[in-house]
Parts: sequence; structure tokens; C-alpha cells
Amino acid sequence: MTASESTDQYFREAAGIMGLSGNMQKLLLTPEREVKVQVAMEMDNGELATYIGYRVQHNRSRGPMKGGLRYHPEVDADEVLSLATLMTWKTAVVDIPYGGAKGGIQIDARSLSPGELERLTRRFVDEIHDVIGPDKDIPAPDMGTNAQVMAWIMNQYEKYHGFNPACVTGKPVELHGAAGREEATGRGVGLLTIALLEKEEKNIEGARIALQGFGNVGKFAAQYLHERGAKLVAISDAYGGIYNPQGINVPLLTDYVATHKKVLNFPESEAISNEELLTADCDVLIPAAIGGVIVDSIVPHIRAKYIVEAANNPTVPSADRALAKRGIILLPDILANAGGVTVSYFEWVQNRQHFRWDLERVRHELDRKMIDAFETTWSLATEKKVPLRLAAYLVGIGRVGRATALGGY
Ligand code: GLU
Repeated sequence: MTASESTDQYFREAAGIMGLSGNMQKLLLTPEREVKVQVAMEMDNGELATYIGYRVQHNRSRGPMKGGLRYHPEVDADEVLSLATLMTWKTAVVDIPYGGAKGGIQIDARSLSPGELERLTRRFVDEIHDVIGPDKDIPAPDMGTNAQVMAWIMNQYEKYHGFNPACVTGKPVELHGAAGREEATGRGVGLLTIALLEKEEKNIEGARIALQGFGNVGKFAAQYLHERGAKLVAISDAYGGIYNPQGINVPLLTDYVATHKKVLNFPESEAISNEELLTADCDVLIPAAIGGVIVDSIVPHIRAKYIVEAANNPTVPSADRALAKRGIILLPDILANAGGVTVSYFEWVQNRQHFRWDLERVRHELDRKMIDAFETTWSLATEKKVPLRLAAYLVGIGRVGRATALGGY
């Protein structure tokens, strides 16, 4: 099953319960625009390299389209479409005035020099600047991109359209970025992990957590949870994982990774594989890396009682059903990792008003938005006796569907 087939399957299940007609389902699933462009650039060694850049704009019934830009070897047209669709439901679940989009280039960003990364980014903007913009489609960081890449996007976009900081979010704080944007996805994941445990009358103190991925999302989620007394027993990255049943010292690991670039060989820990991480003895499993990692064969071996999807699309639909059968409670991506796009929204608002918020205000507004969305989803799941993923889709599709019905098409 492809990535878009799996996200569409979640959509269809919810749309069926809502009684949406086949025609309406087709309208809501069909992307408004799919762009595929050539991105050619000169490498440092003088050779010519050509890549394909994608931008999929899925739905704009609730506002300009919004979503990250991913530089990763697994990017393809179908994955970008699936992730764009997820952004439509995600922005609706947290009720921010956007539709969904996503972009990407199939490339390992780590293989590029800073100069190559900059040229690649600028050429991509040259190709898509006409279809993006503060009122059309606003890119942001995702896997393999960061604040520096967003700064280049803004600068290149402005060469065509003039001063326009709201054309992209996740920019450096010194260049029209928002305080708290970098930590936002991880903070939201941490906050909702605690909210979920509280609903189950469980305490975060001493809760054992296994975390897959120690990138921008995983690192901040780990810090947030560690500071509140959780025990991070297993952490992995693309090179492998580490395990310590007494709990990994997250601040020390963060320093260690800053120097060594990977978690492996961190003192007082034992090396584990990524599969061992997913099946580690823990209370909460947090996949915070790539998609499609929780598959059917893993489900019987998962020992966590709770799964919090910090990554986009980490669970395939058949595994999702098997998890529900096993009574494992899963907080879905379109809710759990919505903190990033929420603070992107705050950044866009600040850029448009030319008025900066301090970190305290950003965190306060973020926490409020995330808890509101969580409570809405939790109540609906309880009322309808459905899993949280289905409830989140019901909330998201309901809002997009109502906007479409009110505004027309
Ligand atoms: N790439 C992030 C996501 O998947 C953030 C998107 C944004 O800030 O627009 O939600």
C-alpha cells in the first residue's frame, strides 16, 4: 500500500461514518494542484546535478495552504501527496486557518555541502515562487530542512516579490522567525503525551518512554518529557539505538549528539536495533522519525500501552487496526505533531502584524491550542466509542467539509 493510499484509507473510514457522499469524498481527496519541477544545480566539484522538486497543494477551503518542505532520499510524488493531505486534516484539527500542502526533493541533505544546499533551495524557489506566497501556500521545515533553508527561501522569494517574511515559516529567530518555533513540535508531543497519561490516571513521573528519532522533533520531545520526570529508556536515530532501563540522561545525550552526530556508544547504555526500540519494554512508544515503521509484523511484539505519533504517517492502516484490537491507545500524527504548524501559524501572524511575541506567549498559546484540540478529540472518541485517530479525522474532515459547504467550490 502506498503512503497516499494509507492516509486516504483513514479518511474514507471517517468519511463513511459521517455519511459524506462519494462525490464529496472525491472532492476532498483530490489535490488542488500538484507541481513537479526540474531543479538543476552545479555541485561543488563543477558537475551538473538534476533533481525533481515536488509541491502538492491539497486543499484551500479553510485558508492558504501550509506545510513543510522535505529533503529526504525517500521523497516521491505519492509520499508528498499523502503528507499534503495530512496537513489539511492537521491544520483543521488544531483549528488554524489553513489548508494543507507539502513539498519535497528526493535527496540526502546530509550529502550536500552548505553551498550546494543553498543553491538547490534557491533553484527550487525559482521554479515554484509563482505558486507559493503568504496568501497562497506557505512552506516550512520538515525532514532534512531547517531554519537556514527557510531563510534562503524567504530571500529568494523576495527577489521576485519584494519584502515578504510571511511567505515561509520556521525562519531563524534573528530573521523574522518566531521564538519557540524550533521546539514547538516536540513540545506539543510532550504536552499531549502527559495529557493522554492523565486521562488514563497515570503519572508522567517514572513513565518509561521509548523514542524513535532524535532529530528536531524527538530531541525536544525527549527534553520536555525528561524535565517532567519521565524515564527515556530507549532512544534511536538513523544509525541505531541505545537502551538504559534506568533512564537515559537526555541533556547529556543532547550534548553527546551535538559532537558525535549519533546516539550510538553513549555512555551507560546498551546498543539496540531500531526494531528492538519499537518493541522495547516501556509504557509509551513515540515514533518520531520516518513513515511506515509500525507494520503488522511488529504489532504483536510491541510492549507499550500507548503510542504517540510524533512522525507523520508512522503506522500503516492494517497495523493501526491490529493495535486497536490489542487495546493499545494511539494518539495520531494529525493531532500529536500539530505543534509545529501551530507555531508556524503564530510566526505568520507576527510577520503580518510586524509585532513580535515573546517565548512565554508563544508557549502559552501553543499549549492552549494543543490542549483544546486534544480535549475535542478525546471527547468525540469517548462519545462515539472510536479510536483517537478516527475521532481526529472526524474533527478535521468535519471542519473542512463545513467550510467547503459554506463557501462553495
Ligand atoms: N513539517 C511540519 C509538519 O509536518 C510543519 C509544517 C508547518 O509548520 O507548516 O507538520
